[in-house]
Amino acid sequence: MRIGVLALQGDFAEHIAVLRRMGVEAEEVRLPQHLHSLDGLIIPGGESTTIGKLAVAYDLIEPLRDFGKEKPIWGTCAGAIFLSKDARRQQPLLNLMDITVERNAFGRQVDSFEIDLDVPVLNQFSSEPRPYHAVFIRAPLIASVEKDAQPLACLPDGRIVAARQGHLLATSFHPELTSDDRFHRYFLSFAEKAES
Ligand code: GLN
Repeated sequence: MRIGVLALQGDFAEHIAVLRRMGVEAEEVRLPQHLHSLDGLIIPGGESTTIGKLAVAYDLIEPLRDFGKEKPIWGTCAGAIFLSKDARRQQPLLNLMDITVERNAFGRQVDSFEIDLDVPVLNQFSSEPRPYHAVFIRAPLIASVEKDAQPLACLPDGRIVAARQGHLLATSFHPELTSDDRFHRYFLSFAEKAES
């Protein structure tokens, strides 16, 4: 299995390191031809406007949309914004997931925080249910999920921070910054299904 990580801006190196640690072939994606023969793609955290503008400059928008119609894509933080169809402001988006996101939803004073989340879909990867420790850095919220997009995890107050729509996955937080690889395993299970 070969997984690409969009390497225009942001913390793509951390995702690549997690994938390689898991024994998965991981490639940096900067040009449309780098998408050929990948089984899935991760769009990292960073700054979503910058990622979007660079994707326009490198003629990646349509190739990424075509890729995402067939193959798994996971967006973390800025990557989740870029995957969405609505970020409530003008910026290049892939329009692949039927989610509306609210950028920088946690304000300045609490830009960054860590919290244990209950993520039921991850319990298949541990012998007994355990919380998922999530790192939020100037994170977006998933303000709404539409059509067949479904929430996977919420904050204690009910606000959505992870969602899935078929083979597309969005997380407001950064699983590449912790040693718990269950979210990566969950995403790889989509790519395995797509491959078989
Ligand atoms: N605040 C960034 C944005 O809106 C996302 C931050 C991140 O990816 N950690 O694009």
